[in-house]
Amino acid sequence: MTKFFNNVYVLGAFATLGGMLFGFDISSMSGAVGTETYRAYFGYPSSSLQGGIVAAMPAGSFAGALLAGKLGDVISRKRTIQLASAIWVVGSILQCATNGVPMLIAGRIINGVAVGLASMIVPVYQGEIAPKEIRGRIVSLQQWAITIGIMIQYFIQYGCSFIHSTASFRIPWGVQMVPGLLLLVGISFFPYSPRWLADKGRMEEALQVLADLRADGDINDPAVQAEFKEIEDAIAFDKTQAARSYGELFRKPAARRVFLGCTLQSWSQLTGMNVAMYYIVYIFQGAGITDQNANLRASSIQYVLNVLFTIPAILYMDRWGRRPLLLIGSSLMALWLFLIGGLMGAYGSADKSGTTTTWSIKNNDVASYATIVCSYLFVCSFAISWGPCSWTYASEIYPLRIRAKAVSLSTASNWAFNFALAYAVPPLLEHIQYRTYFIFAAFCVAMTIHIFFMFPETKGRTLEEMDELFNSDIPPWKTRSQPASHLDQDIEARKHKIEQSEKPTSGSGDKHEI
Ligand code: BGC
Repeated sequence: MTKFFNNVYVLGAFATLGGMLFGFDISSMSGAVGTETYRAYFGYPSSSLQGGIVAAMPAGSFAGALLAGKLGDVISRKRTIQLASAIWVVGSILQCATNGVPMLIAGRIINGVAVGLASMIVPVYQGEIAPKEIRGRIVSLQQWAITIGIMIQYFIQYGCSFIHSTASFRIPWGVQMVPGLLLLVGISFFPYSPRWLADKGRMEEALQVLADLRADGDINDPAVQAEFKEIEDAIAFDKTQAARSYGELFRKPAARRVFLGCTLQSWSQLTGMNVAMYYIVYIFQGAGITDQNANLRASSIQYVLNVLFTIPAILYMDRWGRRPLLLIGSSLMALWLFLIGGLMGAYGSADKSGTTTTWSIKNNDVASYATIVCSYLFVCSFAISWGPCSWTYASEIYPLRIRAKAVSLSTASNWAFNFALAYAVPPLLEHIQYRTYFIFAAFCVAMTIHIFFMFPETKGRTLEEMDELFNSDIPPWKTRSQPASHLDQDIEARKHKIEQSEKPTSGSGDKHEI
């Protein structure tokens, strides 16, 4: 059984229940917003009130992500995950029992705090337990769980949209407690991060956990010894540095990486992916689908595509590298967004009903279908690239001494922009209509240029080797073809040493000393 709980895949996958909470919350409004029951119960919220209700969650997550930096260092990565699950359960109870907009917003803020904590700490925990060869894969499992959570929640909402009472939204908001409870209890059976243990001076435990994770508990295994030595060296170096503080994040040499992590996470939101995740119903209304059921059905396809297209990234990100995925992903997204905006602009027209204006394509099936297809392709392009890469990259580039704080800051940047967009998109769609998509397309072009010139390739390096990568003068676009990781060379050297020492000494006597 111990073996089971020390399997990196089992551990990495279980921790992703944290991502599932994230996903549940992302789509917890998407199905409901278009239904009459929801609108009537909450007094037909205006576009800005609706934006406010949706944005309450990312606002809470922003605070949660900031808090997680300190908590992750002090109470451990594992206990922070547990705390997040407990808070999540409380928020879900409030949402499920809501008696109006204020209680709904309160529940969403609390759930948001939980998601902010989890979204920051889960990738850190996963990154710290995973061997470098599959770190991208393990961390992107979290993104996969996000997409699965989004999809499950959406389908529950779709199913419940046939119920014509408040149960149509209470059931989905109550059911989301389940993964929270599972995570709360289950994570206790898994080990602490070996890097966190080492950081706290608990060296023996750290070595044992590393050995359990990598070599069935054999602390003398060369790979375990080599990796442990790297961790020890990193910590020894850390001791020669000044005391840790948040201020150091904004000074050289950390500042460059902190800037990259924060901008990467902000860009990830500025792709516009959450316009699709939160407000797909509105996009498809714009594409001319007026029937509520047809709209919910068409919307459901994008959530399935989101799950499916994350899989290739999980399998191949460690082979393809982060840079190519990010660059190709944002270029494609720019293309689809320009097309969506262009099609809606060329074939759509405005409708005024009361004080609200909507823009939609009418009586032009070809233009409607083309818009829908482009929006699916947009989701696929994000799912295979920016979704998994942004979380992986932003959690792997920092040295241990600042990792938790820096990841917390970059995660908070993600949530800050998530909040701003959740709030701004309904009014944007109302006031500048299809032009909204051009704004996001322009962001996609800008981020492509930024990635090309500023972000080095990180695949295949240990967390401890990132310092060397970022301190070197190699231009980011040339970082793909760098020499092999030192860890591999060290493991080989250790294996060689063992082989030599096991050879009968009566021979040539030419043993290598390393
Ligand atoms: C983003 C979320 C988004 C999700 C969609 C995540 O990487 O951070 O904001 O909703 O991907 O799959």
